[in-house]
Amino acid sequence: MVVVMSPDATDEDVAAVVARVEAVGGEANVSKGVTRTIIGLVGDIESFHHLNLRTLRGVADVHRISDPYKLVSRQHHPDRSTVWVGTGRQVPIGPDTFTLIAGPCAVETPSQTLDAAQMAVAAGATLLRGGAFKPRTSPYAFQGLGVRGLEILADVREATGLPVVTEVVDSRDVAVVAEHADMLQVGTRNMANFGLLEAVGAAGKPVLLKRGMTATIEEWLMAAEYIARRGNLDVVLCERGIRTFEPSTRNTLDISAIPVVQATSHLPVIVDPSHAAGRKDLVVPLARAAMGVGADGVIVDVHPDPESALCDGPQALLGSELRELASAVRRLPAALGRVDASERAREG
Ligand code: PEP
Ligand code: MN
Repeated sequence: MVVVMSPDATDEDVAAVVARVEAVGGEANVSKGVTRTIIGLVGDIESFHHLNLRTLRGVADVHRISDPYKLVSRQHHPDRSTVWVGTGRQVPIGPDTFTLIAGPCAVETPSQTLDAAQMAVAAGATLLRGGAFKPRTSPYAFQGLGVRGLEILADVREATGLPVVTEVVDSRDVAVVAEHADMLQVGTRNMANFGLLEAVGAAGKPVLLKRGMTATIEEWLMAAEYIARRGNLDVVLCERGIRTFEPSTRNTLDISAIPVVQATSHLPVIVDPSHAAGRKDLVVPLARAAMGVGADGVIVDVHPDPESALCDGPQALLGSELRELASAVRRLPAALGRVDASERAREG
């Protein structure tokens, strides 16, 4: 942490800062410049926060140098992490591979879910997505099948071998979702639901943490830190678009967030081009962009009959379109030094 004194700060003002820092066991290194003095602090950053140094006379600014998120930061964990998903056959999401996750936005019926999963398998996807608990803007919209949807997902996993990622919207449902799913998704609307983050952190399953649609990258990483603090470092971040003034897409995919996050956090980062755009014609170009910029995978909506979908039909791909996406993205990994995640799956 660095304290910047104002140009008119006196020697007494500087001494008062030094005394406060030393009183909590810290070290204060004073450098006098031509117009200003700056004081570099060494020691326990949390104890410095409680000193409220900004309120002292002569203090112009206080800057934090280290990341506020310790566990997910690369500062103490320089190598990027791989998260393994599934029991039995485990699928990697991480820096050496590219993982394709596909499935319906919502689980509607057993046959719709199975059909969508078979489209995912045919395209070479390695994980199945599908919502049983749906966070809907309207209370009158389809809310998902709940526990029945989880059972359908578990049956479809049995039939296809694809591990399942599904959303949990309420901390009271974490146990039942963890019992049925291989990975728990926290959606954009719940990224800052700290009770839910702590609950999924304690559930013993990998977590897919979507970026809040109005969250900064730092807020997103702090949300991941909540999960990590509960002892769960198996967190995959998902950029799914942020809300901007642009109405031609549902959200604006913040493509720069991927390399920014990868530079500061060791956690894998994937992209959801379906929820970002809300339009299926943009899913392939955005998936390509995601790969090019270094994402560790993509998660896309697919539906056997998008016109009848109960949720997000306009962004759902058909099986042939998913295969096109898969072959488009599959040409890129080799050039980017990655292999398809299915080639690195392992027995766990
Ligand atoms: C979803 O993936 O089904 C979903 C609701 O996504 P998001 O939270 O990104 O809107
Ligand atoms: Mn959706």
